[in-house]
Amino acid sequence: MYLTQSLHRAVRQSPDHPFTVYGERTHTARQTYDVVSRIAGGLAALGVRKDDRVGLLSPNTDRFCQVALGVAWADAVVVPLNTRWSGKENAYALDEAGVTVLFVDDAFLPVVAELRERVPGLRTVVHCGDRPTPDGVVPLAGLLAAEPAEDAHRRGDQPAGIFYTGGTTGFPKGVVLGHRQLVLAAMGTLMAQRRVPHGGACVLVAPAFHLAGFGSWIAGMLTDATVVPVPVFDPAGVLRAVERHRAKQIMLVPTMIQLLVDHPGAGEFDVSSLELLAYGGSPISEALLVRARAAFPSARFAQAYGMTELSPTTAVLCDEDHDDPVLRRSAGRPVPYSRVRIVDEAGREVPPGEVGEIVVAGDHVMLGYWKKPAETAAAIRNGWLHTGDGGYLDERGYLFVVDRLKDMIISGGENVYSTEVENVIAQHPAVAQVAVIGLPDDEWGERVHAVVALVPGATLTVGELREFCGREIAGYKCPRSLEIVERFPMSAAGKILKRELRRASGNQAP
Ligand code: AMP
Repeated sequence: MYLTQSLHRAVRQSPDHPFTVYGERTHTARQTYDVVSRIAGGLAALGVRKDDRVGLLSPNTDRFCQVALGVAWADAVVVPLNTRWSGKENAYALDEAGVTVLFVDDAFLPVVAELRERVPGLRTVVHCGDRPTPDGVVPLAGLLAAEPAEDAHRRGDQPAGIFYTGGTTGFPKGVVLGHRQLVLAAMGTLMAQRRVPHGGACVLVAPAFHLAGFGSWIAGMLTDATVVPVPVFDPAGVLRAVERHRAKQIMLVPTMIQLLVDHPGAGEFDVSSLELLAYGGSPISEALLVRARAAFPSARFAQAYGMTELSPTTAVLCDEDHDDPVLRRSAGRPVPYSRVRIVDEAGREVPPGEVGEIVVAGDHVMLGYWKKPAETAAAIRNGWLHTGDGGYLDERGYLFVVDRLKDMIISGGENVYSTEVENVIAQHPAVAQVAVIGLPDDEWGERVHAVVALVPGATLTVGELREFCGREIAGYKCPRSLEIVERFPMSAAGKILKRELRRASGNQAP
């Protein structure tokens, strides 16, 4: 099992079928094969050898897909970089991963000088955008002039990519994922969704440098879809792409779903072609889920729970289970290739219904953190990956994710799971978006603090909020303080950065 297999299959089965459509540019499977094999030939000419790391700093474009395949074809390992990171952050990742050749899209040409300065091992920068290529940078056309290379047909157990995680938990670590892990996870996730779309278009808008996007790109290729990369998220642009390409599938993170359903012109687009709306990557409120299903009535909804270290999916909530008011608060059941357990602090399995740490085993668990054996050993113990997420399994094996363990609030000795409180607050008509955090408190140890963005024109006081929450949940879970914000600090993958919220409140948790 390896990434480039889908391209070989496409060329054999339907060489003239569009493999990618990016703006007005279409590449058939045959044309993609030609480009990918030449990129690989060009990389070999640049001295890239087996297992060398090749960086890729680009939003979602057709070139992103071609370069990622070309790197595998060349027997190397791709290192997709976060397009929202600063030059300094990306330099850290490039340096740590030992990247020698880096592909950059137009928007990143201005940081090339800084990256070169900070990353002494970086030999060559290739420009894979559309603007003129500046001096000192190799144009993609230069690589495409190379003799096409033979595919290395990497084995499933060989690394395919190093994905830097960070944002929600702190210092970035390079997660090394093999070909088998990535393909297996995409395949198994499709299976768990029960009815899989075939052919048509797959709108790729979740960032492909993150596993949410990278995984949905692989799923698109596996289902013979034409992949339509969308470089920046804007609600109208995404809806237009779905309409124009009669897209059958799309993967969104909850923040994107929120922006789509809130978009004033959303109803003007014909999105009736959508068969599958996959989502995940962070908790979703029930209120939003109900609105989203109404906004995309033709689509089967499938939630994925997982993390980069799990390639990324380990549990799926299939569409049918969304009809059940209890089950739709869960992240579904483990996918066929994964085992999920809940353990206490001593590592002992706890009974159904009891909250503990979610630990996961299976062939989709990462190969390890790049050059971090101690961190790898701490994360994978006896074959079980410790997610750092709190959750419980019910009697039927449904997984309920309650919080990141670090985000759990202990107020007056009681555990408060922010997701539960957020779900209640999200139902308040004045609330557009919410995050609940714990802040140090002299009386309670920690107090429940709500950060809220309001719908335009609405107002909300802490008293009103407490009263509203008190109808649904115990008093100790109701927020004791409220902060109104215009916007939330978000990671590039659309997750609210709670760490930043705590810092903004002047109370960075240890
Ligand atoms: P990342 O490695 O960036 O994909 O982040 C993984 C983290 O996102 C997980 O450890 C969870 O805390 C969170 N997450 C991912 N999917 C879900 C989901 N479906 N529900 C709740 N939290 C999720």
